[in-house]
Amino acid sequence: MRDLSADAALLSLNTITVREQWSLAECIEGCVRHGIGGISPWRDKLEEMGAGEAARRIGDAGLTVTGLCRGGMFPAADAAGRQAALDDNRRAVDDACTIGARCLVLVVGGLPPGSRDIAGARDQVRDSIAKLLQHSRAADMPLAIEPLHPMYAADRACVNTLAQANDICDELGDDGLGIAVDLYHVWWDPDLAAQIARAGKKRLLAFHVCDWLVPTTDLLLDRGMMGDGVIDIRGIRQLVEAAGYDGFCETEILSRRWWAEDPDAVLPTLVERHRTVV
Ligand code: ZN
Repeated sequence: MRDLSADAALLSLNTITVREQWSLAECIEGCVRHGIGGISPWRDKLEEMGAGEAARRIGDAGLTVTGLCRGGMFPAADAAGRQAALDDNRRAVDDACTIGARCLVLVVGGLPPGSRDIAGARDQVRDSIAKLLQHSRAADMPLAIEPLHPMYAADRACVNTLAQANDICDELGDDGLGIAVDLYHVWWDPDLAAQIARAGKKRLLAFHVCDWLVPTTDLLLDRGMMGDGVIDIRGIRQLVEAAGYDGFCETEILSRRWWAEDPDAVLPTLVERHRTVV
C-alpha cells in the first residue's frame, strides 16, 4: 500500500466540498496554496469560467484533473428526454476532454417521473451508456460509472452496487468504461472486496473519499470528514490498491457543516486527514 503521509500530491479536491464558499478559480488557487495535487470540478463550477479557460488555469497551476462530475441522469419518460440526456452527456464528454480529465463520472439517474419500473430504468441506463460510448471512445474519454447508495435509487442512481457496475462493464466492454468507487456509497457492501478485485486496475478509474457519520442527519448533505465516521477508509484503500489502483484519493464531502467553514481551514483539514486517516 502506498505511503500517503508525506504530502498531498495524490489528494484531489472535488469542488463540491467547498461548493458554497469558493468559485472554481478560488478552488484552483486554494489547491496550489495548500499543496493539493488534484482537482475534480463539477460542471456548475466549470460553467462559471468555461472549459477552455478552466483548462488553461488548471494547467498553469499544475493540477491533475481526476474527473469531471458529472454525466449521467439517463432515464427519461420518453425518447425525446432520453435523447436530450444523451446530448448533454456528449457535451460533458467534450468538456472533460477540454480540461484533460482522467474520466467523466456518471451518476446514472433513477426513475423517470411517475415510473415504478426500476428494472426498466436500469435497462435505459445500460442502453444510454452504450450509445454514449460511441462518442466517448472516439474522444478517448473514459466513463466511470459511480454506484450510489441504494437510498438514492429513485432519484439519483439506479446502479447501486459495484456488482451492477461490473456487470455493465462486462456487457458493454472495458474499453473506455470503468467505475468510480465512492466510499460513501459502497462501504457497507458485503461483496465489496470481491467486487473491487473483480473490477481490477483497468476498471478502477476514481476513488472518492469521505466518511459515514452516525447518526447521519441528512441523506444528501451530511457526509463526514474522513476520520469522523465509521468507514474503514484505509482498509478499503488497501483493497483498491491491491487491485491495482494507483490514482488519486478524491475528497468529495457534501456537507452543510463543512460548507459553513472557511475553506482555508477546510483544505488543511483534508490534507491532515489524508495523511493520517486515508
Ligand atoms: Zn463520488
